[in-house]
Amino acid sequence: MMAPSDPSRPSLQPRTLAAQALGWEEHETHAVVTPIHVATTFIRDPDNQYRNGFVYGRPDNQTVRQCEALLTALEGGAESLLLGSGMSAATAVVMALPAGAHIIAPTVMYWALRNWLMNDAATYGYRTSFVDTADLAAVKAAIEPGKTKLVWLETPSNPLWTVSDIAAISEAAHAAGAVVAVDSTVATPVFTRPLALGADIVMHAATKYLNGHSDVVAGALVTREKNDLWARIRRVRSMHGQILGPFEAFLLMRGMRTLHVRVEAQARAALKLAERLTGHPDVAEVLYPGLASHPQHALAARQMTGGFSGMLSIRVRAGEAAAVSAAARVALWKRATSLGGVESLIEHRASIEGAGSPCPTDLLRLSVGLEDADDLFDDLDRALRGANS
Ligand code: PLP
Repeated sequence: MMAPSDPSRPSLQPRTLAAQALGWEEHETHAVVTPIHVATTFIRDPDNQYRNGFVYGRPDNQTVRQCEALLTALEGGAESLLLGSGMSAATAVVMALPAGAHIIAPTVMYWALRNWLMNDAATYGYRTSFVDTADLAAVKAAIEPGKTKLVWLETPSNPLWTVSDIAAISEAAHAAGAVVAVDSTVATPVFTRPLALGADIVMHAATKYLNGHSDVVAGALVTREKNDLWARIRRVRSMHGQILGPFEAFLLMRGMRTLHVRVEAQARAALKLAERLTGHPDVAEVLYPGLASHPQHALAARQMTGGFSGMLSIRVRAGEAAAVSAAARVALWKRATSLGGVESLIEHRASIEGAGSPCPTDLLRLSVGLEDADDLFDDLDRALRGANS
C-alpha cells in the first residue's frame, strides 16, 4: 500500500483531499480504491518486534487508519479515531475523564446521549449539569473551576437547531482547566471546523453525513492535540473493543469522498424549504439557523461557512395530533429516524425522545436529502394541508 501523495500540501482544498481519499493507492495493481484489510493479526519481526505498527485487530486496522487520516485532514486535527457508533465515540470521551469529573452538556442535544449522561454516566461517578449552551453567561456560571473537566457542545443541536459559540465557550472552559468536545455531526467539517475555533475534540456520528447513505453505523473523534486525554480515549477504544469494523470503514471512506457535494446540495435545499415553509398556513414556526429569524442566526453566519446544514424542524400550527398525522400522510419523505442520508426523512421527535425531552410535541424534524426541493415541498405541503383539514 503506497502512502498518500502528500496530503498536507497546503494548496490542496479539503474537497480535493476528500474526492481522492487522500490519494491512497494500492501498489501491486495501482488501484485507485484501496482494498479492505480484514486481518486480525500481523506477523512479528524475527526479533519479536512489530516495527510496521500493526499488532492486533482490536487496536489496529489499515482500512480504519486510512479513513481516519482523511477525517483528520478534513477537520484540521492531529489524529482521529473511528469507533463502532456515534454513541461509542461520545461515551469514550466521558469514560476517559478522571473519576468524579463534572461535565457540562446542553439541555438541547441528541436525546440518547443526554439520557446516558443523566442516568448511566452518573453510575460511573460522572456528574453532569445541563445548561443552555446557546447562552454564554449560563455556561460560564455552570463551570466549576478545577472540577469541570469537559464542556460538551452540539451545534447546531438536535432537534431545535440552537447554535453554541464554540470559540467563546472554549476560551471560558480552557481558563477553568476544562476541555471542549463538539458533536459536529450536523455541521460536518464542510460547514464548521470546531478545532480551528478552539475546541479540543470533534465528535461525529459518522452514521449520518460523513457516510451519507444510511448504510453504516459509525462514530468518529478528532483531536487538536495528541495529549494525555487522547491517549486515554485511545485506550478506552482498544480496551472496550470499540474499533470500527473494516467493511464499515471502507463504506465510510467511500461516502466521505462525496461529502462536499452532498452536504452543500442538502444545505441549499434545506434553506429553500425553510424559506418556503415560513409563512405556510399550517406551520407555526420554522427552526433553521440559516433563517434571519433564528435566534442565533448572526452567530451561525459567523461560525458556519458555506451553509447551515441539511437539518430543520417545523412546528405544526394545529398541534401534536396534526403533526403526527402530517408525518403519516407524506408519500416522498421517509417516515424514519436518523439523518444525513441521500433520502429525505421526517420524524415526530417527541414520540421517540419521551418524557423529559425539551422537544415540543408539535415538532417534525426534517432531514433533507438529495431529491428536488420543490418535490419535497409539494409532498410536505399536501401532507400538512391534509392533516389539518
Ligand atoms: N449525535 C447526533 C447529533 C446524532 O444525531 C446521533 C444519532 O442520531 C448520535 C450522536 C449518535 O450516533 P449513533 O446513532 O451512530 O450512535
